[in-house]
Amino acid sequence: MKQEDWISKDTEVVWHPFTQLHGKAAPLMVTKAEGLYLHTDDGRKIMDAISSWWVNLHGHGHPHIAQAVAHQARELEHVIFAGFTHAPAIDLAEKVLSLLPGNQSKVFYSDNGSTAVEVGLKMAFQYHYNQNTDRKKVIAFHGAYHGDTFGSMSIGDRGPFSAPFAPFLFDVEFLDFPDGNNDEAILQHFQKLCDTEEVAAFVFEPLVLGSAGMKIYAAATLDRMIAYAQGKGTLCIADEVFTGFGRTGKNFACDYLEHQPDIFALSKGLTGGTMALGLTTCTEKIIDAYRSSDIMKTFFHGHSFTANPIACAASIASYELFIREECQAAIQRIARQQASFCQTVQQHPKVRMARCLGTIMAFDIATEEDTSYVNEVRHKLYPYFLERNILLRPLGNTIYVLPPYIITEEELQQVYTVILEMLKEV
Ligand SMILES: *Cc1c(COP(=O)(O)O)cnc(C)c1O
Repeated sequence: MKQEDWISKDTEVVWHPFTQLHGKAAPLMVTKAEGLYLHTDDGRKIMDAISSWWVNLHGHGHPHIAQAVAHQARELEHVIFAGFTHAPAIDLAEKVLSLLPGNQSKVFYSDNGSTAVEVGLKMAFQYHYNQNTDRKKVIAFHGAYHGDTFGSMSIGDRGPFSAPFAPFLFDVEFLDFPDGNNDEAILQHFQKLCDTEEVAAFVFEPLVLGSAGMKIYAAATLDRMIAYAQGKGTLCIADEVFTGFGRTGKNFACDYLEHQPDIFALSKGLTGGTMALGLTTCTEKIIDAYRSSDIMKTFFHGHSFTANPIACAASIASYELFIREECQAAIQRIARQQASFCQTVQQHPKVRMARCLGTIMAFDIATEEDTSYVNEVRHKLYPYFLERNILLRPLGNTIYVLPPYIITEEELQQVYTVILEMLKEV
């Protein structure tokens, strides 16, 4: 079939995520992806500078992961995960726990980031329920993003994206984003909330609010919040769906902290970006509240594709690549290069707040308009970069670069060059 025919068929039968159904440019038809590049059926080669929505760690079609997936598909493609288990799930749980802080003791599998967070919330709520403690409040940050299911939407940004669902979301105590000037005031407010001993859980994206526009905040502030909350019996849930697996320059963003959360939610980079998988880990303290002969203390949650063996096998292969010295060195090299470009671009008169943490680099374009996602800047810049065969997907007036770890110094420099050209032209 010809490209035009595919695209018109797509328009007819497919509904794309986060995409207006009216007046949008036709999607690009991708036929193959290899390493850093997406190949379209009209022969273009597009650099994936945002790791395909932050999931890809080792480049597309990595042979080591592809081989693990193919092998697993022939051995055991899937099996019900209640009453049955399999080696890939056990092996992966052990490997993930070995990377996470020592207080994490068990892995609960699901199949994406939203459900990983949802499971964390439910785990926390039932932890209190099982002990007959009446805690119903949840604390989260304004502008946070935790996913698109109802629970994860409830604890996220109450903006244009969640507006149609606002009447159906549960109440949450939202904190302002700690921007370095207001941290003390936020801490005081936070402590007051925790003092009520009604707070079941504090949920956060550690150190970086990703979808909010790569907003980075101080580890020291978060550390104090976790310490205080835990002292008052509030469970702390780290949503590392985005920040996990080296994004911030350490294995996990929480590795910058002294006090460790009770629950972790992971997904995105977990499989190296090849398969859908999510998981939620917790401490022994939480498990203890579920160890009971009372059937009502069971965690009644599960998905058809819980711990899909092929996804677990992909994750094990991704883990093997991730812990290689080569990959760890690449993360540090990218971090240095991003930090250095951050300093360069900060000098530009049209740039505001250049910032970076590990492999994440972002800056804002000075604009008179409002700075939300629906900002016009985004609609001009996305095609600008794409025409130059670079996939960058600005969040409002925030431009960020988030490459897979296999990007070379020269390729990353190419991205910067196009960004600097863009700044001359806007
Ligand atoms: C992407 C994201 C999610 C949701 O993950 P999905 O797999 O898209 O459901 C949750 N939390 C954070 C921090 C994310 O960046």
